[in-house]
Order: sequence, then C-alpha cells, then structure tokens
Amino acid sequence: MGEIVHSKLPTVNSPIRTCVGCREPSDKKRLIRIVRTPDGEVRLDPTGKLAGRGAYLCGKKDCLKMAIKHKKLGRALRCEIPASVAEQLETIAVEDDAEN
Ligand SMILES: [Zn+2]
Repeated sequence: MGEIVHSKLPTVNSPIRTCVGCREPSDKKRLIRIVRTPDGEVRLDPTGKLAGRGAYLCGKKDCLKMAIKHKKLGRALRCEIPASVAEQLETIAVEDDAEN
C-alpha cells in the first residue's frame, strides 16, 4: 500500500470555466469568452487573450438567449450588453438539439 492515487480529478491541460448562462462547467477552450475591456467596451474574445473582465458562454443557442434576456451576461460583466454583441453571439451560437 504505497501510493495514494487521487483519481477524483482527471488531469486536464486547460482550465475549466463555468458558463454564465446554464452554469455548466466546461473546458475553457470550448467556451465563448466575452470581455469587457478596460475601456468599457464589450466584445467577443475568440483568442481568449484580451484584457478585461471576462465571462464565458457555452454557445448553445437556448443558453445564450437566456443569458442575454435574463441579463446574466450583463451581470457577469457588470455592464449592459450592446445589441451588436448580442447579435454576434447569436450568429455563432449552436443549436442545442436538432428538433426537426
Ligand atoms: Zn451555457
């Protein structure tokens, strides 16, 4: 009985972040990052490298709509989400389920 294996958490190479919409934890790389820059501008951050306050969304359409509608995204970033940003988000959102 030598080694104690901590098998609870798998070894991950990238950090886990939580979607502000559905609260699902996910690999940071798979989430959409939205940033409020130090200038107060809200923008999508595909590179994940922009400075500022960031929030993450999983990109599912329903989740995204809800996050905007219920101002979850705005609350996470502590500012209003401009309509242009909301529109951009909707264009990259993925359908949760193919219903038809
Ligand atoms: Zn989500």
